[in-house]
Amino acid sequence: MILLGGMCLSLASVNLSRDVFGTGFLAILIYATVLAPRMSLAIPRSKFAISFSDAAVFLAFLYFGGPAAIIMAAIETLASCYFLRNSGVPMSRTTVLTNISINTISISVTYLVWLTFLERILSEGSASGETQHLLSTLGALAVSQFAVASFLAAVFRSTVDRSDLWKTWITNCFSSSLTQFVGAGLAGIIYKVVSYGDIVTGVIAFVVLSLAYLSYRQSIGKVGEAILQVEAAEQEKAETERERRREAERHAAQLAITLENEEQANEALRKSEKDLQHAALYDSLTDLPNRKHFGDKLGELIDEYRNNPATGFFVLFLDIRKFKNINDSLGHSIGDKVLMVAAKRFVRMLNPSDLVARIGGDEFAVILRDVSSVGDAQKVARRVFNSIAQPFSLSGNKISIRVNIGIAPCDIEYRTPEEILRDADIAMHYAKEDSSSVAVFTKELRVRFLERVRLENDLRNAVDRGELSMHYQPLIDLQQGGIFGFEALLRWNHSELGMIPPDKFIPIAEESGVIIPITVWILKETTGQLARWHKIAQKYQDLIVSVNISGKHLSNDDLIGDVETALTVSGIPPSSLKLEITESAAMADAEYTIGVLNRLKNLGVQLSIDDFGTGYSSLSYLHRLPFDTLKIDRSFVYSVGASGENSEILQTIISLAKGLKKKVIAEGIETEAQLSLLQNLGCDFGQGYLLARPLTKEAAEKSLYENKSWLPAPTDTSTADDAQPAAEENLPVF
Ligand code: C2E
Ligand code: MG
Ligand code: MG
Repeated sequence: MILLGGMCLSLASVNLSRDVFGTGFLAILIYATVLAPRMSLAIPRSKFAISFSDAAVFLAFLYFGGPAAIIMAAIETLASCYFLRNSGVPMSRTTVLTNISINTISISVTYLVWLTFLERILSEGSASGETQHLLSTLGALAVSQFAVASFLAAVFRSTVDRSDLWKTWITNCFSSSLTQFVGAGLAGIIYKVVSYGDIVTGVIAFVVLSLAYLSYRQSIGKVGEAILQVEAAEQEKAETERERRREAERHAAQLAITLENEEQANEALRKSEKDLQHAALYDSLTDLPNRKHFGDKLGELIDEYRNNPATGFFVLFLDIRKFKNINDSLGHSIGDKVLMVAAKRFVRMLNPSDLVARIGGDEFAVILRDVSSVGDAQKVARRVFNSIAQPFSLSGNKISIRVNIGIAPCDIEYRTPEEILRDADIAMHYAKEDSSSVAVFTKELRVRFLERVRLENDLRNAVDRGELSMHYQPLIDLQQGGIFGFEALLRWNHSELGMIPPDKFIPIAEESGVIIPITVWILKETTGQLARWHKIAQKYQDLIVSVNISGKHLSNDDLIGDVETALTVSGIPPSSLKLEITESAAMADAEYTIGVLNRLKNLGVQLSIDDFGTGYSSLSYLHRLPFDTLKIDRSFVYSVGASGENSEILQTIISLAKGLKKKVIAEGIETEAQLSLLQNLGCDFGQGYLLARPLTKEAAEKSLYENKSWLPAPTDTSTADDAQPAAEENLPVF
């Protein structure tokens, strides 16, 4: 295209007449190079601009012919490109040359078309110089110029862009026709004014056109400004929107985090709810169902059984024996582990359909389902007992536990879980009476239990109600025959049930712990009594009172203080008080007993081992226990016959006591044969119905005043049945 343009330009130069160079051509040249490029008006928001340069080309054509117009087109295009480049529009040299070539070629083609057709056609229609002729000429030139220039520009653009020629022409080149027609119009006006015009019309036309141009330019400037403002506003709006979008995205991200946190919190909440539910129904130590869970299940089974008695079941109540001792001696963490071992063994011994629960500290309960008879339930219970009894080792301690098991069969009378559990518990209380440690609930057991509960409750108030009293059984020097003291024996005269024998209420008092406050009362009562008896006569100043101390009290820290208080309050010499501790209580924890007895001994009191021979004393402990006297259990005395047979055990015990350098006292002397045997064996002291029954305090005091001889006068026929001392007690059989 550049080549073709160059050729056109060369041809035009050759054919250019020298006459054209004059003021007119110079004026057009100045207009084309200086004014026209600066006058072009860009149409806001479009790719087009109205150029006035074509007017110069058309004027050159009208005045100086085709070659002058071709050269003018080249110069005018070069000036426009130069001006545009100076204004900052990027434009390569090739583009500049291409633009020049397009315009040069198009004006050349237009000139050729003119020479070939237009000049002849137009000159036929009207005389040259006439306005119509001028308009036709310019119109035809403009059309031709537009057609060729736009076609070439479209070819160039579509080649560069590799786009469709037609579309490119429509989009980019079509509207450039405006420029051609504006240029033609302007050229026509100038030509008319200069050629024919009077100067006034010319000036007026110039002024009007200038005003029109300036006001248009101004309005275009305003439109441009307004557009800039709109664009700035749009940009601002777009920026605001972008910011909003960013803000929205930030919010969305924040929301996502919040939602995730919330989900996590919900998850934690669900988990803690689940944990809470588990904690509400399961024991935290053994992970067995707890009392509540067990009760719920039991409640369901009771309802089921009431609807369909074929669905029988048994409830087992299990209690670990002396669990408190394990806790106290080995510590709570070992105690916890023992419970865990026990729980595991229970579960292992039972069917999956059975339910094992921990319902209290050392209490467990089981629901046995697939067991049809009481006998079978007992078998299961014994199996559990044997399994649990297997020794095991924990932190170096060999541990062996025993359980008491109570069994309650389901019954139509049960309405709540508590009722059946209560009866299994009752049975469990009597399990220790059975060699296998298993007991089945019966209605008689409930009667016994309720009676026991009643006695226990009544016993708590017995001291306050004045129902308790002390009886005193004289203690006799078997060799001299004199009284050296009394054993204080507790009596309970129940306000409704009458006299209750010690064998019945003492075990209850011991198990429930009520024996401790009662013994405090006994110590006060007996030492106070003794203090008064000491004053009866000089010879009674060494009289002693012997008080029974239960195993429960022995292991209670308050014992020493209780004894001390009694001594201080009564003012009796400490050696006048003797404390009797049974052999079995003393040996339950011999090391501990040695410690307590030594502290008691330091107070100055005397100590006696009671019911000796019934427990399992180890000789080494016997040696170390600081007892003063050893009291032979009455069962050994009782077995001695009328002619002194079965005396071997007595003889052994007395020799042992002598060997240990302890004094010996025999209880339960009922016959003269027993008495004389004991005397012959060298037994120091004795007590028994033959010598004196336990006496009320009044009777005991009276006997002191009587100054009587306590040993019976030896007769051949005397027996225990004859021995009936004054004011003796007469206990009913309960
Ligand atoms: P224990 O300490 O061995 O008391 C001696 C028991 O033998 C007394 O029975 C006494 O009445 C009885 N007894 C004495 N001589 C004879 C006799 O010749 N033949 C027969 N068959 N019995 C005789 P009691 O008073 O019924 O007391 C029974 C047990 O109750 C006592 O045995 C003692 O273990 C306990 N006990 C009695 N009073 C108290 C007390 O105040 N505190 C404590 N902790 N236990 C007491
Ligand atoms: Mg006693
Ligand atoms: Mg005794």
